Amino acid sequence: MFNDAVAARKQAHEQGLPYPTTAVLSKALITEAKRTPERAWLAEVSAAILQQALADADRAYRNFFTSIKGKRAGARMGPPRFKRRTHAQSIRFTRNAKFRVLDNGRLRLPKIGDMRVAWSRELPSAPSSVTVVKTPTGKYYASFVVAVDDGADLLEPLADPEAETGIDLGLKDFAVLRGGKVIENPKFFGKLERKLKKAQRVLARKAKGSVNRAKARIRVAKVHEKIKHTRSDWIDKQVKTLVGENQALYVEDLNVKGLARGRHAKSIHDAAFGMFLVRLESKASRAGRTFVKVDRFFPSTMLCSLCGVSDGPSGVQGLRVRSWMCGCGAVHDRDQNAEINIRREGKRMVAEGRSDTLNASGQDVRPGRPGRPGNPREGQNEEPTRSGAAQAAPEPGIAVL
Ligand SMILES: [Zn+2]
Repeated sequence: MFNDAVAARKQAHEQGLPYPTTAVLSKALITEAKRTPERAWLAEVSAAILQQALADADRAYRNFFTSIKGKRAGARMGPPRFKRRTHAQSIRFTRNAKFRVLDNGRLRLPKIGDMRVAWSRELPSAPSSVTVVKTPTGKYYASFVVAVDDGADLLEPLADPEAETGIDLGLKDFAVLRGGKVIENPKFFGKLERKLKKAQRVLARKAKGSVNRAKARIRVAKVHEKIKHTRSDWIDKQVKTLVGENQALYVEDLNVKGLARGRHAKSIHDAAFGMFLVRLESKASRAGRTFVKVDRFFPSTMLCSLCGVSDGPSGVQGLRVRSWMCGCGAVHDRDQNAEINIRREGKRMVAEGRSDTLNASGQDVRPGRPGRPGNPREGQNEEPTRSGAAQAAPEPGIAVL
């Protein structure tokens, strides 16, 4: 339906005709198309779903129009493109589509029926929509959009002023925390990665269109699925512990050090960083903890946490340095030193009111975003400016350990 709408508008544009409205397309692409043999199957789907697809296509065009007029923030957008068929499929039912969760626990989907559901948790409130996804391995998942009480996940504040940590994400250890505590890289990162490579090699050797290729594809999809779930569970566990034990968490924004590594790019490990930060921010905010992202240009590994001179290991070579000695005589473990610097910079940002997420009193300091757990992607342009952070040196002579 989305592609039909895009095709109809492309055609109208080429013929110099005015932009066809959703109402016009609804009549031509749904009502009339249903009577043709090629599109008769549209009658098997709830009409609300088809309308939804038309609305999505219309919104994509509106965004494109405001973008070319220069009224839309962000990069220029191209016109909507055809959606490509993938091995994953999904369908979204909004309230208009009249889906229902029945008293017997089944999910009633219009034109589909009453589906048996293995509930992973109870719904906290009436859902406003449900998306049913069929994964490439043939499993079905239903995810619901629900409204939750803002204070539902608040934790009791920790009285101990020392209950806070910097988090230095890295290669050798997943993260280095306060006092040299580490979150080790789990063994499954490497194990599953090797498994995936192997499955991908097998797939590459199978002839296109063969039955064996289809089997090999499902094999690859299964490993991907396993990676996704294992990584997600592991991250949730780490995030829960960190937020439970710390009143304030200071992290370095995903930086060059972790990601621009060429051959390592896109490893499970790197993908885990992104997910870890998104979930940590969200969980910390909801729990009423302080969460601060230190500027990505802050030289956390180069600064001596004792004297403040910026003369430590840097760049790609710096990755190999485990410990170093500053001109002042201090000997540093690279990662522990970085943690101290991140924590100190984070505290400084809070003191100056420059932290961009929830502050210690649990109030959102971002204007216009009340009560929403952070979405770092969205917030990227609201980061504190790099001036200041890059040159700032910690107070000399003070060691926070
Ligand atoms: Zn020094």
